[in-house]
Amino acid sequence: IKDMADDEAIQATNDDASECKRYAVQLGYWSDPFINFFVKQTGRKAPEINRGYYARVKGIEVFVDKFIKLSGGKGQIINLGAGFDTLYWRLKEAGKCPANFIELDFPSITARKCYHIKKHKQLIDMLNTEDGEIRFSTTDLHAANYHLVGIDLRHISELTNKLTQAEVNFNLPTMFLTECVLVYVDASAASALLKWLAGKFSNSIFINYEQVNMKDKFGQVMLSNLRSRGCLLAGVEDCESLESQQRRFTINNWEGSNAWTMVEVYDSLPQDDRRRIEHIEMLDERELLVQLLQHYCISVAWNGQTFKNLSIAQG
Ligand code: SAM
Repeated sequence: IKDMADDEAIQATNDDASECKRYAVQLGYWSDPFINFFVKQTGRKAPEINRGYYARVKGIEVFVDKFIKLSGGKGQIINLGAGFDTLYWRLKEAGKCPANFIELDFPSITARKCYHIKKHKQLIDMLNTEDGEIRFSTTDLHAANYHLVGIDLRHISELTNKLTQAEVNFNLPTMFLTECVLVYVDASAASALLKWLAGKFSNSIFINYEQVNMKDKFGQVMLSNLRSRGCLLAGVEDCESLESQQRRFTINNWEGSNAWTMVEVYDSLPQDDRRRIEHIEMLDERELLVQLLQHYCISVAWNGQTFKNLSIAQG
């Protein structure tokens, strides 16, 4: 029963993330015409939270764009713990869709996502291609180049089957994305997952966004900063430092890795856009933002030469 309660609390983090994103989009931090199909209402969020989400979404976009360019649009994206993420539709709208796009999450989340997709013609229409029929079950959806699949990521034995149903191609250039996900998966299951993926996809890049610098100078985990909704943060040891974030990939058979705090990511975003969003809301204390950004990072790991050593710099 405790495990089920934990899983429910973990699944609720998706509502939190989606609401925060919708609120920031509503204020104009970035454009996402699709998020409101998945989230109906949001309460007010603090300016530093909105800026944090801006850095998160824009920082991830930098690597997604690099992946699309380097793979010539012929790669696949696999979003693990995708929640209500709208990346597929945003890429499709921008004419940058990869060859295949697979989203995985707990079946209870994918069922809700299926429901929202079915309900909105605009989302459905963008899944259609001339030859593509769409197959639905309660929890899974399969279209021409978009697949949404319910699975517990701790159950690796089901992954091959689920990914095969999603028409995965182990030989294609592949980008994995985990945005605030691994920290909820216990360390041994997360390791097993990373190792399995490294063994199966030889030409790939892994983009991970999550907490970092979780311990204070006395070695205590600082949970108060983290808005963790009382969830068990199972992977907390891997979030200790940028170094441990990088190491968790290399010890699990990824060839190389890199990591940046969100302070570095924020500062690397285009200056004119940062100026624009800094005018949306007043932030009395910039220190608050820096403190928040210091506790999150983007780490990147790669296998093969194509995606080796990508930097956070634009272009
Ligand atoms: N990546 C999305 C985003 O950033 O908007 C959602 C982030 S939310 C904080 C974490 C997501 O990870 C939730 O949707 C949750 O259900 C999913 N998740 C956590 N542990 C999981 C597991 N063991 N199996 C499948 N999904 C999991």
